[in-house]
Amino acid sequence: CGIIGYIGSQDALPIVQTGLQNLDYRGYDSAGVALDSGSIEVYKREGKIDNLLDVVPEASDANCGIGHTRWSTHGPPSNANSHPHTDCTGRIAVVHNGIIENYDELKAELSGHTFTSGTDTEVIPHLLEDELDGDTSPVEAINAVVDRLDGSYAFVVTIAGTDAILAAREDSPLVIGHADDGAYLASDVTAFLGHTRDVSYLEDGDVAVLTDGDVEIHRGGCPVEPTVETIDWEAD
Ligand code: GLU
Repeated sequence: CGIIGYIGSQDALPIVQTGLQNLDYRGYDSAGVALDSGSIEVYKREGKIDNLLDVVPEASDANCGIGHTRWSTHGPPSNANSHPHTDCTGRIAVVHNGIIENYDELKAELSGHTFTSGTDTEVIPHLLEDELDGDTSPVEAINAVVDRLDGSYAFVVTIAGTDAILAAREDSPLVIGHADDGAYLASDVTAFLGHTRDVSYLEDGDVAVLTDGDVEIHRGGCPVEPTVETIDWEAD
């Protein structure tokens, strides 16, 4: 239902936590975060963000993090079904808004993988795990996964050791925030308006790569410059 991501020079955890709280108005049944400080740590809980705050560490030195509020469509609300979802190695964490229509078929093709949730989303980290096996770049891997997905989605990925956040969208909004202290990514600008008003919107089919200091957008297989606009309205 709601997505927030940050990579930059600041500690990611407070930014992701505040982002989730700013998305609270959309309604949700569970919440979770993944922090990437070279290895991935995932914290997630069914219920209110307060339940999640009970289990996240007080502080983290991770400069890269993603967060999610879930409105479940596949698999009832539970800790296991909350996002982020990971691959078998725990190197890849994914948050997703929307529905992967062909998840059953994909799950059958991923027979060597152990699934730990009842969600449609969990096919994404496992597909990425297979695609990244070899010398495929993260962008190539995301493009290959997107080619196999039917449905509507905005998903955001962090892969340990890459110092990047990657994202893809189809029929579900994603907006990038550009700031001196790094790059922000959310389903809705209200998630990060306290940090920056300079934004660029992703289009259907886009893949974005955010690093500390750079935002790359791949559109139709080619890199394009993000079109940055400044939001001039006040949030309530
Ligand atoms: N279909 C996914 C799930 O049920 C994502 C739902 C959402 O958009 O929050 O876990």
